[in-house]
Amino acid sequence: MFRSILLWLSRNKTLRTTAIRWGFARRAARRFVAGETIDDAIATIRELNAQGITATLDHLGENVETLDDARRATDDYVKVLDAIGISGLQSHVSVKLTALGLDLGDDVCRANVARIVAKAKEVGTRVRIDMESVEYTDRTLAIYRDLAREYGNVGIVIQSYLYRSEADIAALCLEGAHVRLCKGAYKESPTHAFPKKADVDASYVRLMKMLLSANVRAKGTRGALATHDVKMIDATRQFAADEQVPRDEFEFQMLNGIRRDLQQKLAADGYAVRVYVPYGTEWYPYFMRRLAERPANVWFIASNLFRK
Ligand SMILES: Cc1cc2nc3c(=O)[nH]c(=O)nc-3n(C[C@H](O)[C@H](O)[C@H](O)COP(=O)(O)OP(=O)(O)OC[C@H]3O[C@@H](n4cnc5c(N)ncnc54)[C@H](O)[C@@H]3O)c2cc1C
Repeated sequence: MFRSILLWLSRNKTLRTTAIRWGFARRAARRFVAGETIDDAIATIRELNAQGITATLDHLGENVETLDDARRATDDYVKVLDAIGISGLQSHVSVKLTALGLDLGDDVCRANVARIVAKAKEVGTRVRIDMESVEYTDRTLAIYRDLAREYGNVGIVIQSYLYRSEADIAALCLEGAHVRLCKGAYKESPTHAFPKKADVDASYVRLMKMLLSANVRAKGTRGALATHDVKMIDATRQFAADEQVPRDEFEFQMLNGIRRDLQQKLAADGYAVRVYVPYGTEWYPYFMRRLAERPANVWFIASNLFRK
């Protein structure tokens, strides 16, 4: 119930425009967000790389309503890719299509993402297309496939809470896709998504095994297991050991500011670990989804407020 309220609030436009002005909320968001500028983001990647952990950089923003905003978000990605290229740091970028104009039309959005993917190729890195709520899934997959065919250096995300994901992964496995598997962060109805956590988790393990199986890896498919759930991580480690999956043929991914201890432990154990690093001023919906995943975060933040 509380999770649903937080997810509903994450889509509230009035709160979105007011919350970003509250100094307290900004400070609370810093637990998950690297900062507001490219320099903040680069500093965070540098720290991660020094610990043997790679990054994927997300310029915060979603559901832009004007072509100018979509172009500005695209320009920001091009700038940050230049900064990654110059710094020599190990980082991909992650993009949300609604930040790049998906609500304004597929062609506009595709052209913006193509600019980012071409720039990433020029500086020798990759782009991951995040998956948003289910009304965008088909269009997101179509744009991904189009760009993957043309450029190659693009990956996609699949959410284990959706019933359709098994069929989506089966198709992507045949295409040699780079797939990030996550549980899913949006509020979806039981028409589209498993309502019970146990089913979402069982689906996660099933899809992880599909992505890491030998015949699928032979086609060039690569799985990125994005989760902080120790049960999912242990299931992956076990499957990878049983199937002798080479360590450079899959990776673990986690969010900035969540389970740093686990990120460092996996890296120290020799696994490839990548951390998702969001930065920018449009942190409100991202921050609210992180609170919804673990409502205890709300009490933690509230107790800090009252202590001050
Ligand atoms: C790298 C990465 C990229 C992602 N990309 C997408 C995407 O494109 N689309 C999408 O829908 N979702 C995305 N997500 C979010 C994902 O779908 C889940 O909502 C999120 O990862 C929480 O699920 P979990 O697998 O960690 O498991 P859960 O069962 O939710 O959590 C397991 C444990 O992890 C810890 N934990 C989890 N979340 C938090 C938190 N917010 N604060 C503190 N501790 C926490 C807790 O200890 C919890 O008990 C991404 C997640 C990661 C890690």
